[in-house]
Order: sequence, then C-alpha cells, then structure tokens
Amino acid sequence: MIKTVHRHLKKQVKLSLLVIVLVVAFLAFSLLFNGLFKPSHANYIFTQEVDVRQDPAIKRVIEMTTQEGSVSRVEFPKTNDHAIDEALRDFVKKHQHAFFEVTSKNENRIKQQQPAHHHISFEWYVVDQNVASVVFYEHWNISNVAYHSNIETFLINFNSSTAVNSKHLINFKSMNQVTLKEKITNVITQEGLLLTPNESVQETLDDFLKDPNIIIDRHTIKLLLQDSKLKNNEGTYTAIELPFASVPAIMNPNLLALLPLPIIEKPTNPIPPKPNNPTYTNKIAFTFDDGPNANTKKVLAVLKKYNVKATFFVLGQQVAAYPDVARQIIAEGHDIGNHTYSHKDLVKASPELAKAEIDKTNNIVFETTGQTIKLFRPTYGRYNASVKSLTNLHFVLWNVDPLDWKVRVPKTIANNILTHTKGGSVILMHDIYSTSAEALDMVLGQLIDKGYDIVKVSELLGY
Ligand code: ZN
Repeated sequence: MIKTVHRHLKKQVKLSLLVIVLVVAFLAFSLLFNGLFKPSHANYIFTQEVDVRQDPAIKRVIEMTTQEGSVSRVEFPKTNDHAIDEALRDFVKKHQHAFFEVTSKNENRIKQQQPAHHHISFEWYVVDQNVASVVFYEHWNISNVAYHSNIETFLINFNSSTAVNSKHLINFKSMNQVTLKEKITNVITQEGLLLTPNESVQETLDDFLKDPNIIIDRHTIKLLLQDSKLKNNEGTYTAIELPFASVPAIMNPNLLALLPLPIIEKPTNPIPPKPNNPTYTNKIAFTFDDGPNANTKKVLAVLKKYNVKATFFVLGQQVAAYPDVARQIIAEGHDIGNHTYSHKDLVKASPELAKAEIDKTNNIVFETTGQTIKLFRPTYGRYNASVKSLTNLHFVLWNVDPLDWKVRVPKTIANNILTHTKGGSVILMHDIYSTSAEALDMVLGQLIDKGYDIVKVSELLGY
C-alpha cells in the first residue's frame, strides 16, 4: 500500500518534471529561434543628429528603425521652426510607414530572410536667410519583390513658417505649361541631355507636369526630372536649370508672393560663369529702369557703339517728359517695358491706383512710340498676387544687381557686373545716371569677348 502510494507519487513527480522540462525546452527553443533566426523581430529606433554643411543653423536628424526584419534609415532637417520641422518630419514618416506596410504584408520575404531596405536622405539649398529648398531622395529595395526610387522637393519659407511641396508651385491654369515645356526642351537640346538623339521627350514633360519637383537655388530655378531617356547630370536625376527671372512665368502667384524678391546677388558668394561649357546658355540681358531722361542718350550711345540691344523699363511720367528719348529707344531697336507711371510701390498702393499706374504707362508709351508693351518690372521688385492679377504683362525681375544707383563709381559698378554675370543673367541698371553709362562702356567689350550673347530680356526669357 505504502509502496503503491510511493510509486504513485514518484510517477506524479516524474510527470511534473517532464512538463517542466518540456516547458523550459519550449521556452528555450522559442528564445533561441527568435534570437538566432528572427533577431530583427525586435523593433528599435536609433537617432543621431549632425550638422548640415550648407547651413550651420540646420541639423540633420538621422533615424534608423528596424521592424520585422526591415531596416529604414531616414533623414530629415531640424530647423528652429517647429511648424516647418513638423511638416518635413511628417512627410518622411508617412513614406517610412508606407514602406513598413508593404514589408509587413510580405510574409514570404520574412520567411526567406530576404533583406528589405528603405532610405530617405535630403539636400538643403539656401536661397537667402528666409528661404531654402530641400530635396528628399527616397529609395526602397525589397529584394526580388519591389524596387522604388523617388524624389520630392519642398520650398521652405521661414517668414511664413511654411514648407510647401513643389507640386503646388507650378501654375497649371495658364498657358504657361506650353512655355515651360518649350523652355525645358530647349535646355535638353542645348545641353545634349538626351541619351538617344532625336527621341521625343513629350512623355517625360507630361510626367514632370503631373508631379513637378523644383528647387529654388540662389540664382536659378532647377526642375528635377527622372527619366531613363535623359542623362543624370545631378545625382540620381536630371536638373534643368532656368534663370531665376523666368520663375514668375511658371509659378503659382500665391506662392511666388512668398519668395523674397528680388534676389540680390551677394558679393561674398559669387557663382563663376561657365564660358567653357559650350552647352551652357551664353545669353545675358541688360535692363535699364526709371528713365528716360537726358542721360538715357549716353546709355543709347554706348549700346550703339557695341551694337547691343537692351530693355528699358520706363516710368510713364518720364516718357511724358522725354518723348523724343522714348522714340529714340524704339528707333534704335531696343525694347520698352512698363515700370509704373510714377514709381509707386504697388504692394502698398490701392488696387485702383496700382492699375492706373500700370495702364497709364502702357497708354503713353503706345501714344508716344507706337509700341505695345509686353513686359512689366514692379518697382523695388515688390509685388503680390493682387498686383499680379491687375495685368497680363510678363513680370520681369533680375538676378544681377550691381547697385549702380547707390555706388555711382563706374569702376565699382563695372566690377560688380563682371563678378556676378553668368549665362542667363538679367542685369539691373538705371539709365538715368551718367556713371551707369560709363560702367556699361567698361563692361560691354569684355562681356562680348568672353562669348556672351547680349540680348533683349524678352529673348532671354522667351516671351
Ligand atoms: Zn525703379
């Protein structure tokens, strides 16, 4: 009896031990299995911050996230502006999430231990202290399953704390699409960017307009194209560079109003011209504001000496005062553009007054010279969407400002022009000062010798 009980107890202990051993073995096996074969099941995030070379005020946040065997390494900028940071981080996180969604659904890949990688990096372009561009590069690689590469660009404005995706920057409503396509096609041809000559880029341009990526750089607007027909001249994409002055033609006026205009060349950061690159545009344009007056004749004489055509943005009241000079400008083959009637700041003026300032000048130029004006240069380069809506004239700004109205020393003005002019430059001068005429005389010969084609601004911008 005792023996039976004892044996029974022994049997129970053995059974319990077996259960314990089995449980321990199972746990050990699970741990081992997870530890050895699915180490990446543990999700973790690793963050690091580094400086952004182009702008010491900006940090680059690098975040490594591992989830279900998939690795994502993303970068996003950290500025001092909370709203901008959040917008850019949200964008990056949304794309990371989309990647993890795809990989988590793909069980085969996890079973076969195939690596899946996601990568977002960015480049930062400083325009001035308030404006920057950022381009994000995204790349997925889920082995044998999916491959994906993408770029997205944002325009950053610190004044308004906004980061706007460039998809919203192109003005689709107008006829500008045609103009823009022509401009892009011209650059592709001039720079020999087609891999197979004479191939049509129509589809490429349509794709671009559906999903436009733009960077505003200090001097130019860059349109980023991704197409296998084109040479990658910058990173993993093709950059089509247009002079900044042509931006108004293709941008949404509401967003354009956010840009600090004019963009004045900083003497500390000159961009050298590229005269050695035969495919680079060698066209430049001289523009003269605030005239005409008696001094305009000196400028006209210099232009005649070098057989150069230019564009004069006149004030209506000056045309009324110097009608003969206005007629001489046209007779000698130059263009006249509108610069308001009495140099009013149209952003501050009422819409009625602003419209009168523009219309009166169009009328007096037509009555005096027979010329119909096509171009408008806002005073101080200042305008907004409401000013833009007052007229159909093309808004023309500038990207080289030698400060001739302020400096009044011909040699200094000449140096300013020579230092900053490059292909695509629109140079701002004032024909009402004799020092400006003297500076012009100093630079025209040198610029022609350097191989620049000096044209009217309407030709440079394709209006
Ligand atoms: Zn002016």
